[in-house]
Amino acid sequence: MKLLFLGPPGAGKGTQAAIVSERYGIPQISTGAILREAMKAGTSVGLRAKEYVDQGQLVPDEVMIELVRDRIAQPDCEGGFILDGFPRTVAQAEALGEFCELDVIFNLTIQDEAIVKRLSGRRVCGDCGATYHTSRLGGRLNCEQCGGALILRKDDAPETVLNRLAVYHKQTAPLEAYYEATGKMTALDGALALDEGVRHIANVLENVR
Ligand code: ADP
Ligand code: ZN
Repeated sequence: MKLLFLGPPGAGKGTQAAIVSERYGIPQISTGAILREAMKAGTSVGLRAKEYVDQGQLVPDEVMIELVRDRIAQPDCEGGFILDGFPRTVAQAEALGEFCELDVIFNLTIQDEAIVKRLSGRRVCGDCGATYHTSRLGGRLNCEQCGGALILRKDDAPETVLNRLAVYHKQTAPLEAYYEATGKMTALDGALALDEGVRHIANVLENVR
């Protein structure tokens, strides 16, 4: 099963993808998480990506395409995978189409105002990358999974969030029409409670397997 979660920042792509990954035993390929790892480790991709990521801009297509091509070629992707955060431009989608045929595209939709609220309250574990929201943390400052300190991502700062939204509308939103045309896209309301969203996804996947 080759799945894609499409949608603006903060729509819940990563959260939904993590649940589906666990349930179906296929890896979640989150390009944002891969880039943050690379930045932390100081690899050449990380160094190249940092200036873009920190400002909420997109990392150049050629960097991302090569990164995803390599990742998908790993043995753990043989039984399928979930893409989360890639493609983000039509050029990336066209390149992906040359080496991979997706089964289902979930398009998460959400209002801009809700996005700003979600992202400003988002905290990530600096060690393992797990994400949380302040409204559900009850003041806790450490990761439930590994105990690492929870931090505000630099690109979740309010002014950068507005940047990312503008980038989304300009560069990524055209992908909705691109994938709509394949007949494999299904809309998913990002404002739904998490378990309702997951139920909807499971229903759709029933008919694919
Ligand atoms: P979110 O979905 O919350 O916006 P991500 O973790 O997916 O955040 O991505 C964080 C940042 O990483 C993006 O703002 C961008 O700079 C970079 N990035 C991730 N995926 C891509 C991609 N496919 N193409 C270009 N840049 C990307
Ligand atoms: Zn952690």
